[in-house]
Amino acid sequence: MMIPRIFRFANYETVDFKEYLSKNKIEIHLKRNMHARFLCGHCKSRIKPDKGCYKVEVQHLPLFNNHCYLVFRKYKGHCSSCKKTRSEHINFISKETPHKTKDYSWWVGRLCEISPVSRVAEALDESASSTWRLDYSRMKRMLSNYKIPKATRICVDEVYTRRKKEKGETRDDLFFTIICDLDTRRVIWVSYSRRKEALDEFFLIIGKKACEKITVVATDMHDGYGASVRQYCPQATLVWDRFHIMQQFDDAVNETRKQLHEEAQKGSEEQRLTRGKFRFMFLKKSSRRSSIERQHIESVFEENKQFLKLELVKERMHSFFNARTAEDAYEIFDEIGGWAWQSDLVPLMRWHEFMSKKWSILKNYFEHRVTSGLAEGMNHVIKTLKRKGFGYRNMHYFKLKILQTCGYLNSRYITDPYML
Ligand SMILES: [Zn+2]
Repeated sequence: MMIPRIFRFANYETVDFKEYLSKNKIEIHLKRNMHARFLCGHCKSRIKPDKGCYKVEVQHLPLFNNHCYLVFRKYKGHCSSCKKTRSEHINFISKETPHKTKDYSWWVGRLCEISPVSRVAEALDESASSTWRLDYSRMKRMLSNYKIPKATRICVDEVYTRRKKEKGETRDDLFFTIICDLDTRRVIWVSYSRRKEALDEFFLIIGKKACEKITVVATDMHDGYGASVRQYCPQATLVWDRFHIMQQFDDAVNETRKQLHEEAQKGSEEQRLTRGKFRFMFLKKSSRRSSIERQHIESVFEENKQFLKLELVKERMHSFFNARTAEDAYEIFDEIGGWAWQSDLVPLMRWHEFMSKKWSILKNYFEHRVTSGLAEGMNHVIKTLKRKGFGYRNMHYFKLKILQTCGYLNSRYITDPYML
């Protein structure tokens, strides 16, 4: 009988094919070629199959919507390296579990790349916990073969991972540090915490030579990351992410609004107009306000000129990142400072004072316009991952899942299950 090629397994002959359609099950019976070498399942040294054998059923890819099993005998022998009786090594059996073939477990892992584990388990008639273990150990194996791709422009960001602290942890431990290649727009590394050491770890792994090739590092305004970049990347320009700069600026605007609100007469119309649902309106760019909001804010300005000044400062800042050169930007920045000081807007004064000291970093944006789109997008993907409930209580699993979803730890880049 002609055996279709898909039923052929190295060193085995297909001898029988049984269908149990009421049980949704197909069996492919294999017989080993006894002349082929026997290797120890543990250390792969040569063994002699002189300790008997036992029958195994190994699950393979489904056939026409039936569960499919390979049925054959597995031989045992004494391994002189292990000094023990061992079962033979069988190449097509998954490293994750002896009950599945490599092809099957690879396919399960691929499905877990695009779908929550619980849904994959449900669709395949598997238990959620064994599917999770398979996915986890497959990713761990991919990680042990992983080489961080070379990058010259990277961005570093922190991602909030969980609420609960373990013993001895601080708030910094509740974050991951995520490192992306700005050119390929993929996550290339994830490390625990948002401390300086988290970024140090990345630089230490890629090594001195790779660090010297890094020309731009975009980060949030966190001191730890900056210190790490200065220590390890002599050629790199540090660029603060504009999204984070605006966030801090918005905080200062909001603080100022609160202050003005508190200074306003209690129970006055002005106080009513500057709190509650209206408070976000002050942070909005004027061109984005609705006509009702515009009317509303006009009446606030009439009541209190300080709000008008706050508005001017905020609008000016929105044009800051559009400046063509660092010099143009400095002019805008200087002007904003002038207004804040003249009008005595204290939180904004403090913000401006701080930023003035950091101008040497702030100005870098106008040389390397690194957008925050990537970091924000990643943040979104990671939040979705968390929502899908990907067993994120295990932080190592969660880290691997980020590298899988946003990086290279997946079957788009590692295409052959036999490669690992
Ligand atoms: Zn051995």
